[in-house]
Amino acid sequence: MRERMNVTVWNEFYEERTYPSVSSVYPDGLHVVLGQALAEHLSPEAHVRVALQEEPEHGLTQAVLDGTDVLLWWGHLKHDEVSDEVVERVRRRVLDGMGLLILHSAIESKVARALLGTSCKIASWRHDDSELLWTILPGHDIVRGVPNPVVIPKGEMYGEPMDIPEPDELVFISSYEGGEVLRSGCAWQRGKGRIFFLASGHEESPIYFQPEIRRVLANAVQWATPPAQPQPKVTRKGEWPRNWWAEA
Ligand code: ZN
Repeated sequence: MRERMNVTVWNEFYEERTYPSVSSVYPDGLHVVLGQALAEHLSPEAHVRVALQEEPEHGLTQAVLDGTDVLLWWGHLKHDEVSDEVVERVRRRVLDGMGLLILHSAIESKVARALLGTSCKIASWRHDDSELLWTILPGHDIVRGVPNPVVIPKGEMYGEPMDIPEPDELVFISSYEGGEVLRSGCAWQRGKGRIFFLASGHEESPIYFQPEIRRVLANAVQWATPPAQPQPKVTRKGEWPRNWWAEA
């Protein structure tokens, strides 16, 4: 495990305050439950903070992004209201090494489209379908400790073709009770940054409360965390390690 992971959970935080079908599942917001899932698996190494769309600069100043190892992105109905400036800031930070988790409907977000280069549109969707999340790469870090398949009793069908670039690694596919399938766990490298898309996570169902999904999220954060920067090998009076740079 990494020494320290700085994780920022970004949320649109609109439907939880607008629609009873969502607020009944996530009364405090999806970001709270996502953050709890990570803390459950990654404490004390992970430091989790939240950024919301309504905040100035959507909570994603350059300083916040510079201090973020992995960013989780949850959005659905307000993609178009995300500023292009912030999208560009996120894109550059991923190219520079920050990990990015694209969650559920966020596959159609500006951030996802900017980094993946396609429309990312799904061909169809349907609420209240059951889903089986099948592991395709059994040795992958993201599936460690995850049963195969993960059974999601009620979620949302997303149908292919989904207009994404070919994943570098296809980690999961999902099948739905209507017979459709989806490339539901996709990994890409962009610049120095690792990107993972997990489709499961419909906002009207308690999917982010499921232990198996929480495990996937935590695994994905660890996988996407950039390697620690090597420390400068400076010795002073034979003392090592010392934070010489902090004494200036
Ligand atoms: Zn949904």
